[in-house]
Formats: sequence, structure tokens, C-alpha cells
Amino acid sequence: MTEVARITHWIGGKAWDGEADRVGDVYDPATGEVSGRVDLASAADVDAAVEAAHQAFADWRGSSLTRRVQVLFAFREIVRARRDELAAAITAEHGKVLSDAAGEVTRGLEVVEFACGIPHLLKGGFSEGVSSNVDVYSIRQPVGVAAIISPFNFPAMVPMWFFPVAIAAGNTVVLKPSEKDPSASLLLAQMWADAGLPDGVFNVVHGDKSAVDRLLEHPDVRSVSFVGSTPVARHVYETGTRNGKRVQSLGGAKNHMVVLPDADLDLVADAAVNAGFGSAGERCMAISVVVAVEPIADELIQKVTQRMATLRTGDGRRGCDMGPLVTRAHRDKVASYLDTGVADGAELVVDGREVQPDGQPGGFWLGPTLFDKVTPDMSVYTDEIFGPVLSVVRVPTYDEALEVVNSNPYGNGTAIFTNDGGAARRFQNEVEVGMVGVNVPIPVPMAYYSFGGWKSSLFGDTHAHGTEGVHFFTRGKVITSRWLDPSHGGINLGFPTQT
Ligand code: NAD
Repeated sequence: MTEVARITHWIGGKAWDGEADRVGDVYDPATGEVSGRVDLASAADVDAAVEAAHQAFADWRGSSLTRRVQVLFAFREIVRARRDELAAAITAEHGKVLSDAAGEVTRGLEVVEFACGIPHLLKGGFSEGVSSNVDVYSIRQPVGVAAIISPFNFPAMVPMWFFPVAIAAGNTVVLKPSEKDPSASLLLAQMWADAGLPDGVFNVVHGDKSAVDRLLEHPDVRSVSFVGSTPVARHVYETGTRNGKRVQSLGGAKNHMVVLPDADLDLVADAAVNAGFGSAGERCMAISVVVAVEPIADELIQKVTQRMATLRTGDGRRGCDMGPLVTRAHRDKVASYLDTGVADGAELVVDGREVQPDGQPGGFWLGPTLFDKVTPDMSVYTDEIFGPVLSVVRVPTYDEALEVVNSNPYGNGTAIFTNDGGAARRFQNEVEVGMVGVNVPIPVPMAYYSFGGWKSSLFGDTHAHGTEGVHFFTRGKVITSRWLDPSHGGINLGFPTQT
């Protein structure tokens, strides 16, 4: 039997020592056993975390840039050194394979490295002598307590899209991670403490909707960064902004890979399998729809099917290609789409329910699944399934492929595969999606660019990290200054103009 760990909040630089009113089960998805019980915060627990962050804010925003950067560099070194430990914690609760878990830590570290350049990123402008003895300059200041609410699918990377920049810019943070895989956030909290971050600058509260709703109404929370499903993202955006907060709220996705007839179909098949089934399809940038511009669909499906047959589904600690789904309920929901798709008239080419996993029978297994002849009215197409289910939509022309992508309410990521530079250039211009790959199936931007989708994939106008992230976590201020010259003075009620 697995030992069941207690997982609790991190407030003011230490593990919380209170009694929780409610707790939630955390599972090892590869065995199906309960591995932990996570405390679910009450409103009072959330208030304690916000209070710790609020108290720490004045000192942290007042600490020098040099000091803040020293802490960030130390944090970076500690995360690098303990990457495998973090990856193991992610695999144990999420189920993704170890190499993939280490990969998400690496992508999160890139944002830490970006945030180490905060002195440069915060530099303002200066205009000398805009009028006689008058100078104008701009500065950017931290906003205050930042709430970060994250999904289950990247328990380390998604919080790391936000908190390195928030902290570097002088804000303090309350992170509310997913209650399904909460342990990585506590390792990160310990790493911040080891890096010398003052108590209260980084806090973690575990919980569900009631914790989120308290964060959204708390008067001392000044900004909210949310990532999760679209209905919740919309709720967070609407409630947070109504309560006067700055909100960036990233939602769900349905990512299309458009394949033109001139593409190299072996490369396309590799990319479709990697991007469709990596992390069991539980990635917001996973490819879930291949839009095949005829006449290549039959040949492409054959190549994809051959590759799918080589994939090994099993325990992420055993060197498999694909792990289990995160919970039994999610596994069953994803599996239910296999019946729905067939009932709606799609052709089930590979049935993931027949998988022979390399893992314990109680694990939340579903193998890679392929549907052909999917049409945009079917629920396997319209719904975000968030599992290892890849659909092929056949279209006769590029224009119809573009129409499929642009008619979809989501606009997170997309990719085009072609050897025609002109066609790719036209696609990048015409497609209504925030992140576009050209012969790259998962076009996640580097940390110094900003991450975010369009339409129902993002509410708010600021994307994560990059310069947009710096803007989100800071407020601009413009100072007009005159150092008095005795020759100036006198009364003049006219509107100030430059002379
Ligand atoms: P989710 O929406 O169920 O949960 C996200 C967070 O919101 C969690 O912390 C959860 O505790 C909280 N929450 C859940 N229900 C809530 C409610 N009713 N009110 C307030 N808070 C609530 O999402 P998930 O299942 O954890 O993650 C998967 C989803 O996240 C997918 O839709 C995926 O596309 C999306 N996602 C998007 C991106 C992106 O960049 N756009 C990145 C990662 C994941």
C-alpha cells in the first residue's frame, strides 16, 4: 500500500500548522491508489495567505533590483539541481512520463532565466529638457499581491509562466495550484525559501472553487493570472475584473494541424503522433485535429497508424512513451467520446480502450486513439476532450482548411505543414489563432516572447511571460520634474504647454 501523505498550505515561509475543514484525495494515476490528502482552503485560510503576501509586499518591492536578481539566480540553480525530484513528484501525481515531467521543469526554468533580466526589462524612458528645466521619465512599479491559479496538466511549468516575473518585478504571490497534483508547488515553495526569498513573498494555498472565489473577491489581491478550462477562465475573468482586479485568464483549446498535399508525410506523421499523444493529450497545445487537405488523407492515416502501433503506454516511471490519464473520472469521460464519435458517424481507426498497459491494472489507462472522417458538427470535434484522441478532418482545399480552423471558437495553437513558403506565409497571416507553427506542431513560444491564445482560449488582453508578462505585473508611472531655477516663477493659470 502507498503511504498517504498530508499535503498542506505554505504560508509566510512555512508549512501551515492548522486543521483543515475539508480535504481532497490525490491519486497516483499509474496505480489508481490514493497517495495523498490535500487540505482544501477555507476563506479564512486564503485570507491568511493573502495577509502574509500583503505584509511582505512593502519590504520586497523596496528591496534593490540587485538583491531580487540574486534570489532569482539562486532559485534557478536550486531548481536545476533538483529538477529530477520535481519531475518525480509531477509524474507521481499527474502520470506523465518522467522525461516529459523534466521537460516541463526545463520550460519553466526558461521563464526564471528570462526574469533574471528584470533590471533591463524594468528600465523606463527619460526625456531631458522637454521644457525649460523640465525632464520627463517613466518607471514601472509592482502591482501588489498576485494570485496565480493553475491547472493540473502542468503543475510546475504553468505557475512558472507567472511567478518568476511577478516576484522579480517586486510583487508577492499566492499560488493556488490544481488540487489534483499539488505537491510540485510545495517543492517550489521550499526552493524559493532555500534561495533566500523572504517569508511571505511566495505562498501556496490548496483548494477548489471556494478558494478561487475568495481570491477573486479579496480586496488585497491586485492581479489574477488564471489557466484552466474555458468556462472557469471566463468566470475568473468576469468576476476578477468586476472586483477591480487586473486579470489574464487563459482557457481551453482545440488545436488544428493543417496538412497541405505537398508536405512530407513522414515528418507530418511523426509530428501528429508526438503532438497528439505526448502527455496523453493532456496539453493545452496538444494537436487534437489533423485537417488533411486531399488527396493525402489515406496515406497519412496509414503512416500515423503504423507509428501509433509502436507507442508504449504505461507507468511513467518505466520508460514508456505515454502515461495514464490524471484521474479515473477524467479517463472515463475521455473514453466516453469513443462511443459518441462512432455514434455520430466517425470512423474509429485505433481504439485506445484495447491498450495493454505496462502498469498496474488499477491505473487510469487509455491508449492512443485515432478517428477518421470527423466533421465539425460532431462532439469529438466540438468538445475539448483533453486526452489521447486524435481526429482527422478531410477537406478538399486550403481555403476550407482555413475555414475549419477559423470557425472554431478556440484559438490557442495551430500548425501548418507544407513545403510551400508562400502558403505558410498566407496561413500565418490569415489564421485567427494566437500561436502558429510552420512545420512545428507545438509552437510554444520561448520565455522572452509571450504565451497566449485568441478567442475563447484567453480572456484579457495580456499574454503570459515575455514583455507582456512584465507589463501585466507592473504599472507604468510617468514623472514630470522641474528642479527649481530661481529665474522661473510667477502665476499663470493657463494649461501647461511646452516652451
Ligand atoms: P480546470 O478549469 O478544471 O481547473 C483549473 C483551476 O481552476 C484549478 O486550480 C481548479 O482548482 C480551479 N477550478 C476548477 N473549477 C473551478 C470553478 N468552478 N471555479 C473556480 N475555480 C475552479 O482545468 P484543469 O482540468 O485543471 O486543466 C485543464 C484545462 O486547462 C484544459 O481546458 C486546458 O486546455 C486548460 N489549459 C490551458 C492552457 C492555456 O495556456 N490556455 C494551459 C494549460 C491548461
